[in-house]
Amino acid sequence: MQAQEQAQVNCSTKTKYDCWKNGVLVDADQAVVSIYDHGLLYGDGCFEGLRFYHRQPFRLDRHLARLRRSLSALMITIPYSDDTLTEAVMACITRSDMVDGYLRILVTRGEGDMGLNPLNCTTPEVFIIPASLSLVSETVCRQGASLITSSIKRAVGTGLDARVKSLNYLHSILARVEANTAGVDEAILLNQFGYVAECSAENIFVVKAGALLTPSAQDGALEGITRETILELASLQKLEAREQSLTSYDLYTAEECFICGSGARLIPVKIIDGRQIAQCLGPVYLALSRAYQALIDDECGGEMS
Ligand code: PMP
Repeated sequence: MQAQEQAQVNCSTKTKYDCWKNGVLVDADQAVVSIYDHGLLYGDGCFEGLRFYHRQPFRLDRHLARLRRSLSALMITIPYSDDTLTEAVMACITRSDMVDGYLRILVTRGEGDMGLNPLNCTTPEVFIIPASLSLVSETVCRQGASLITSSIKRAVGTGLDARVKSLNYLHSILARVEANTAGVDEAILLNQFGYVAECSAENIFVVKAGALLTPSAQDGALEGITRETILELASLQKLEAREQSLTSYDLYTAEECFICGSGARLIPVKIIDGRQIAQCLGPVYLALSRAYQALIDDECGGEMS
């Protein structure tokens, strides 16, 4: 991919929108943390990224449920109910005046001291940050993405569970650096046993012998909300769909491959490590993409296309 186009893939407008910080709507420049915040010092915290369409957040309940699971795994307690966070999300959307956009819900363990002991952090910081995020270029959506397999591993069973959406994204960032250096769109992370986990910021699906397959959380996949939605849509379409361990060979020989996430939505894949994927854009991708858009319109109150 040309450098100019790659820049578009990563573009997000620089517009700052008012944010919610610990119960109050504030100017983005006031939505700041202390330099002793453990989120900043140690990546100690977690987050959610979701989209809103027609001014309605898409599957917010599931994002809040995953946020609660991450918080619980990290032993961080926040003093806000799901109802309060939902009201806060709606207030941010209204204040932003965007019809469609992206929201980051972010929790840090809060201010402590230079030591890493979390006992010194008494008050978590909770932010909601609206953005108009455009992650994927039109060309990539139309023609398919090129991926490489990263040398960075998504380790499983070695400490932090891949299901925790923590503020530590260095493995993803390093994988993305490899993709940038190789001039491709995204990188696939394997786990330490050589099984496919996910991409730097998306889950991955393949179609093999007509069945839709995706790695499990045990193999290092985040429990993606989009992934879960795709599995539900596949079942509605009577398409055989299941979690399965996959190797690079399974990706190279797939009938179809696509990646998905709240930010990126569904992206068809055309090349992996220089191997052309048999069908791009394939019929399963096209059917699921249409169903995903219809679901958004249905749940967020837009026009059916
Ligand atoms: N994996 C990783 C590492 C991610 O950061 C994301 C984006 N949140 C996903 C998968 C996709 O998850 P979701 O569909 O919930 O956005």
